[in-house]
Amino acid sequence: MNPHESALLEDLNPPQAEAVLHGDGPLLVLSGAGSGKTRVITRRVAHLVKVRHVFPWRILAVTFTNKAAREMRDRLFALLGSQANELVVSTFHSASAMILRREAEHVELTKSFVIYDDGDQLNVVKRAMRDAGIESMMQPREILSRIDQEKNAARLPDDMRLSGPDDVKGATVQRVYRAYQRLLRAANAVDFGDLLLLLVKLFHDRPDVLERYRTRFTHVLVDEFQDTNPVQYALLRQLAPPPSSNLVVVGDDDQSIYRWRGADVQNILEFPMQYPGARVVRLEQNYRSDQNILTAAHEVISKNSRRLEKKLWSERPKGENLELMLHRDERAEGQEVARRILALQREGFIKFSSMAVFYRTNAQSRVLEEALRLARVPYTLVSGRSFYDRAEVRDAAAYLRLMVNPRSDADLERVLNVPARGIGGTTEERLKDFAVQEGLSLFEALAERHRIPALNSAAQKRLGGFHQLLVSLNAFAQTAKDAAGAVDQMLQETKLVETLVADGSEESNTRAENLRELLGAAQEFDLKRASDAVAMAMAIEAREEAAPEGVDSAPLTADVPPLQAFLEQISLVGDADAEVGDGRVALMTLHAAKGLEFDAVFLTGMEDGVFPHSRALKGAEPDSGEEMAEERRLCYVGFTRARKRLFVSLAQCRSLFGELKYNPPSRFLADVPQVLFGFKENDLPPPPRAAAMAPRRRAWDEEETGPRVDRSYSQTSDMEAVSGDVRGMRVRHEQFGSGRIISADGSGPNAKVTVEFGGDVGLKRVIARFLIPG
Ligand code: ATP
Ligand code: MG
Repeated sequence: MNPHESALLEDLNPPQAEAVLHGDGPLLVLSGAGSGKTRVITRRVAHLVKVRHVFPWRILAVTFTNKAAREMRDRLFALLGSQANELVVSTFHSASAMILRREAEHVELTKSFVIYDDGDQLNVVKRAMRDAGIESMMQPREILSRIDQEKNAARLPDDMRLSGPDDVKGATVQRVYRAYQRLLRAANAVDFGDLLLLLVKLFHDRPDVLERYRTRFTHVLVDEFQDTNPVQYALLRQLAPPPSSNLVVVGDDDQSIYRWRGADVQNILEFPMQYPGARVVRLEQNYRSDQNILTAAHEVISKNSRRLEKKLWSERPKGENLELMLHRDERAEGQEVARRILALQREGFIKFSSMAVFYRTNAQSRVLEEALRLARVPYTLVSGRSFYDRAEVRDAAAYLRLMVNPRSDADLERVLNVPARGIGGTTEERLKDFAVQEGLSLFEALAERHRIPALNSAAQKRLGGFHQLLVSLNAFAQTAKDAAGAVDQMLQETKLVETLVADGSEESNTRAENLRELLGAAQEFDLKRASDAVAMAMAIEAREEAAPEGVDSAPLTADVPPLQAFLEQISLVGDADAEVGDGRVALMTLHAAKGLEFDAVFLTGMEDGVFPHSRALKGAEPDSGEEMAEERRLCYVGFTRARKRLFVSLAQCRSLFGELKYNPPSRFLADVPQVLFGFKENDLPPPPRAAAMAPRRRAWDEEETGPRVDRSYSQTSDMEAVSGDVRGMRVRHEQFGSGRIISADGSGPNAKVTVEFGGDVGLKRVIARFLIPG
């Protein structure tokens, strides 16, 4: 074994090494959380380059978020040095965007196409509805989400499947979808779904183009494969067709949490059928979490039917108990989380940056943030889009996109009167109507403004001024040498900052600062781009062997103008992409937590209706539905992010989305064996379900920050306090054994409870005080 090889295999277990050493042909690594799947991918890439001498530019490694891609790239630089420059390590979307830009002319676009986000998409849908003469039949949001679904499923309007002549909604969506695509093409714009869909269609229609990329990428590797949707999978099958391509996919069916974005867990389960002869490697040792955490995670996920049973063991110690934190309300929850974070840092020597707070929905973050701020806990909100979603930043971005692509109508509409320049609603309508009638983009219509009917000379003049501004910005962009220069020029010419500063209010000052921050982001981008370019050039220079004749080995990013590249980066910032800052606690949704790990994790809002999400509680069989199964997987993902400490926290009442709710404890808590919370087996306390429903009033009221479970509940060892909804709760009866509550009549110790007991006993009606939870 050469020394490179032994270094790369040194700290891998035998199945991990098997996956790294696997020769040619498809490979599936299917295993539970924290078992080293991501490590296998990086090692395998390094092994391909160092030991098997595969050209780095022949390797395409796809991950789920930009953040994951960055981490993988960092690890590969550590393993490979400058050779890592030529690897293509990226998300599906950004890899597709790069290829699409190179091939733009084949798909009715130019190289300078812009990428529309959700907000832009909605505008286009509204306009498409207007154009198609469909005003109020369906909500634009609903249509947009149907269009997105179609795109995720790799279907263009013509490929849509209507359920029959009566499918009025389907037909409506199809008509709007058609008009929507036309508008996007006319604006030289794509949406997220298009990035993948247009590429798949291009590869389908142009085998010669596909062949170039197939010949180039001889090795394709995919992390988090369980979350690929059909269009992504179609792309993979094109680039690395069955049966014998070198396609390596790694994932965990239990961590499939993007069904709502069209992800299909069947992709991973059926991989061996799609790629007959694929080698399957299972990793069974978990290196991340202490035993107690793993056991809890296992108990939660094993309630899902239709999953691959996976053994997962760990050499790590049992570790500390999980902690259940009960609170009066969400404010008390926030305060206690902050207090415990500070204590962990002081007494547990856990760094802030190794701690995370998770929640199910973004709306929960506000109260948590407030509490952390008050307690002076440094934190980062991991929600990458929030900066770029601010109104003023979106305005600036719209101008930047118009600089490279003046045909972008959605952007032009956005800034037509920003900053205010006296262009009112009537003028705007006349401009738009004229553009539609003449088949022009708004920018072209501006140039023809003298022909717009019924427009007075003042309005003409204002439109003229705006047109002039865009022309001038556009000319500047043609020659801009870097992104920061273009941003600076735009800010000056549009007077965006100036107007805000003149306004002088605190709000406006903050907004002006955000715009300067955008300039800062552009400067940072330029520096990085310049140094990347040098590194890339040196790597190409240092190639040990020339690329074979006729094989495209050029960097995928080649010759995109700087402003364009900057805009692309902004557009592709995803929900989970903020940097987890140095020395800061990370706050994020459970979805964003995928693939990450922390010493201590706080999972907040563990209440039915919050987590699992209320959506999953609806329907005929909420406990067996697909939505509930997905929530359960999300819980599994959350638990398995923790290395040493796992805190699960809930509030007795919570106001969320403007409503005050008294939700019962999350059903997932009832699945965690009580001993893992440190309760003694022979003195079983009530499970959380009963506990939070029967709070000891004094305990709640006494302690400002909300009581901890061990103080307030551990002595309640019977079912004296029956109230609220106890259906489904597990109980024991001295004579009848264990069972599940079907219904309860009345409240308190004398409530009559119907229980389904196991074995031959069946249904019995018993008095609550004779039951023990558990
Ligand atoms: P997830 O399912 O959450 O994505 P994963 O299977 O990708 O997890 P990794 O993130 O690759 O797992 O690994 C989990 C942790 O275990 C990491 O800290 C990694 O460095 C460590 N690890 C993986 N394999 C080994 C090994 N053979 N020896 C020691 N540590 C390992
Ligand atoms: Mg991973």
